[in-house]
Amino acid sequence: MTVSAGRSAHPALADAEPAVFWLDDPAAPEPVPALAGPIEADLLVVGAGYSGLWTALRAVERDPSRSVVVLETRDCGHEASGRNGGFVSASLTHGFGNGLARWPGELATLDRLGDDNLRDISDTIQRRGIDCDWEQTGELSVATAPHQLAELEELAVAMGRAGHDVELLDAAAVRQRLDSPTYVGGLADPRGTALVHPARLAWGLRRACLDLGVRIHEHSRVTRLDQDGAGLVAHTSDGSVRAGRVALATNAFPPLLRRLRLMTVPVYDYVLMSEPLSPSQLSAVGWAGREGVGDSANQFHYYRLTRDNRILWGGYDAVYHYGSRIERDLEQSDRTHGLLARHFFETFPQLEGLRFSHRWGGVIDTCTRFAAFFGTAYAGRAAYALGYTGLGVAATRFGADVMLDLLDGEPTQRTELEMVRRRPLPFPPEPARYAGIQLTRWSLNRADRRGGRRNPWLRALDAAGLGFDS
Ligand SMILES: Cc1cc2nc3c(=O)[nH]c(=O)nc-3n(C[C@H](O)[C@H](O)[C@H](O)COP(=O)(O)OP(=O)(O)OC[C@H]3O[C@@H](n4cnc5c(N)ncnc54)[C@H](O)[C@@H]3O)c2cc1C
Repeated sequence: MTVSAGRSAHPALADAEPAVFWLDDPAAPEPVPALAGPIEADLLVVGAGYSGLWTALRAVERDPSRSVVVLETRDCGHEASGRNGGFVSASLTHGFGNGLARWPGELATLDRLGDDNLRDISDTIQRRGIDCDWEQTGELSVATAPHQLAELEELAVAMGRAGHDVELLDAAAVRQRLDSPTYVGGLADPRGTALVHPARLAWGLRRACLDLGVRIHEHSRVTRLDQDGAGLVAHTSDGSVRAGRVALATNAFPPLLRRLRLMTVPVYDYVLMSEPLSPSQLSAVGWAGREGVGDSANQFHYYRLTRDNRILWGGYDAVYHYGSRIERDLEQSDRTHGLLARHFFETFPQLEGLRFSHRWGGVIDTCTRFAAFFGTAYAGRAAYALGYTGLGVAATRFGADVMLDLLDGEPTQRTELEMVRRRPLPFPPEPARYAGIQLTRWSLNRADRRGGRRNPWLRALDAAGLGFDS
């Protein structure tokens, strides 16, 4: 990986490796061979992040006689699934607030399905012996400005009415859990979130698939999908897979179906990982409950502890590059990493002197409604699930079952959901896409600085049910 010129964008970044902490792990598996020559399968899964791996695993769990092949451009879990914050949220809708705004009539069902999904993930991890630092910590949303606290109060009422066991906290109460002079209050949700080592979860799912007979080929990018009699054929540079059904789990990467090209945009999200905190540094912040934390601005930070008490600190900027560019060099940003480091020490001045060991970035597949959408192509022979935005760690398992339901062609409770049946509006083509996203980011930043007041552009987007988020 190219080392970006200003590794010392902030003094605490001087020794930070430009690499993904989670992937830099002795537990990383040896790659399996690339596809060579033509093969056949009942189901082909394209992409091996959580979405593809859950689809393959659920496919054989649901029907052990089904032959399944997975093709992956790089190594399983190398992209978003191996480099995220590791927040495993029960929400299928990118948070309760987004679900309430878009699907108020079926949010109770979506909440229940989300809870079941989180429990099933935990069960799978246990049953299959996946060593991935699973911690059911819950989540703490913190307010750093009075208008954010007012929004959390409203959210607490709505969540309470919907049966969520949440607790609103004043500044003193939130600082007792985690101490930052920037906090004016918070909302504790002890049940809806777990934390995980994201790459180890992906590798564990990969192992489970291999153990159940799924054939995985890494370094095998699908370049084309064609109809072939009653099935489909996917081509790679050195082989092909003929399959009756195909599940497309390619996230932010260029989709194999033309119709999906405007449905998502790749957005870079950036992360820092600190060195392990000493016992005295840890006691200076508290954090006995080890909750995953998010602040409540439009441009928000998310942070958490790792098993060895490092702090992962990410978010804030969500960067879109003209023409939906995705390149390895874009994973390092002096500007954003430096900004994140500054924000970290503003939040935790008592940790001055702590250094960061790793810095990285990755792409998320943002869609205009922030929650996944689903569909089929080739007369029901191919299905896709995309648009998880920044909350796909758990939701991809739900999406995997939706894709399998759609490919089976039988209606289920999942496929009857409005959220599953309806798709979001697309983004416009360039140059309007870039201009619109930049204007939206500028407006969101301004709203954060002006007590949450949304300008006419954001209000127009809100009225149309459109937006940009990470
Ligand atoms: C920095 C960061 C932090 C995040 N934090 C969180 C978080 O804390 N909690 C949360 O819920 N979500 C988080 N997310 C989002 C979450 O990681 C994703 O929603 C989730 O991993 C999506 O899984 P996926 O399988 O769809 O995508 P990916 O993991 O990107 O997998 C898609 C795979 O498809 C492969 N592929 C693409 N095209 C082809 C092709 N033509 N042929 C073969 N293979 C192909 C890619 O190589 C890739 O491996 C974060 C994302 C990022 C980047």
